[in-house]
Amino acid sequence: MTMSALGEPCVLLKLGEVVLKGNNRELFERRLQSNIKASVKDLDFKVDLRQRHGVIALFLPEGSGVERADVVAERVSNVPGLVWIHRAWRVAKDPAAVTKAAIELLADREDVRRGVSFAVRSRRRDKRFPLTSMQLDRSVGGELNDIYGLPVDLKNPQLVVSIEVDRDEIFVFTGGQPGQGGLPVGTSGRGLVLMSGGIDSPVAAYRMMRRGLRVDFLHFSGIPFTTSESIYKAYALARALDKFQGGSRLWVVPFGKAQQSIKASGQDRLAVISQRRLMLKTAEEVARRLRAGALITGDSLGQVSSQTLQNITAQDDAVDMPILRPLIGLDKTEIMAEARRIGTLQISELPDEDCCTLLAPRRAETAAKIADLKQIERRLDAEELAVQLAGSLQEYKLQV
Ligand code: ATP
Ligand code: MG
Repeated sequence: MTMSALGEPCVLLKLGEVVLKGNNRELFERRLQSNIKASVKDLDFKVDLRQRHGVIALFLPEGSGVERADVVAERVSNVPGLVWIHRAWRVAKDPAAVTKAAIELLADREDVRRGVSFAVRSRRRDKRFPLTSMQLDRSVGGELNDIYGLPVDLKNPQLVVSIEVDRDEIFVFTGGQPGQGGLPVGTSGRGLVLMSGGIDSPVAAYRMMRRGLRVDFLHFSGIPFTTSESIYKAYALARALDKFQGGSRLWVVPFGKAQQSIKASGQDRLAVISQRRLMLKTAEEVARRLRAGALITGDSLGQVSSQTLQNITAQDDAVDMPILRPLIGLDKTEIMAEARRIGTLQISELPDEDCCTLLAPRRAETAAKIADLKQIERRLDAEELAVQLAGSLQEYKLQV
């Protein structure tokens, strides 16, 4: 039974910062719409997207049950640019239909039986509707009060019944789930994430996707001197992050031999920073080929010896492209909490043989001098090496 008094199940989406965009707004909205459509494209039923004033409604094929609305809501809850997702009922534009739907909506609810306090909150996006928001609140609230005997609490209700009057229909719902917030992926351009198998870089990737960057993933493996475990981890991480943008690509550079050469150069204490600079130079070359405009890393200030201010300065010096470090001011516990929430922590915590362990010196330099690093690089011919490494790039196609 779907065509009850409740009307038809649908999903109502509230936009985030997109609404702040002046002249660009249409561009942002179009991008958001196409990202939403892409997120539900592979479902076995059609989802019909309608842009309304300041909100987006997703309609389901006639006769659809709530399970379909649940599936769609789950998908779009990962799409950046949305702040709220409501599973709503779409009813006819008529006060009696709204009242009936609201009554039905509260039937068979455990909290209603317990006698929770409630409030009705109406908004009109169509001001021609005969009742004002306040009149709607009062009349629907009065009916609910008569039938269920719930106390009204306008300030701090435990249950809110929302009514939104639109151009062609009215939406009725309770509750909702927060979206990812941020900006639609693709509205800020493209970035390249340096992704280890660790905890931090996947979170950094997520943060930048949420600021509107479409990202590619680049992993340096210790191959041929390590196993491929780290590649599997990078692969699993890229797959887990794909739900936020769709169409993700993973690129892998075999880095073992280059690390050997750095090691052979004898500067033990500088080896880690030296290799990080070579990674960045290689990444910059790869980014140019992929038309990405920024590199993204999971650095957090002071977390490890390569992340002191001096060493970060030495890394910035290696490339022209901006290096974005969205986690720079976060604590490890905060990063871990976010990794858990976005579903990457479990993967990151799997054991692997990180390529960096090949180089771990007894004492790493915390204040690397750029002149010393450049001297090592002249001997290595680092610029040429970076171009060669970028040439050995391999794409791992994600099966999502
Ligand atoms: P993570 O948890 O992301 O591995 P970390 O705290 O272990 O970070 P480092 O190992 O110093 O810190 O790495 C700093 C950043 O350098 C990483 O966040 C990542 O962006 C990049 N990076 C390090 N190793 C690799 C690698 N093998 N492939 C790609 N990027 C790497
Ligand atoms: Mg690491």
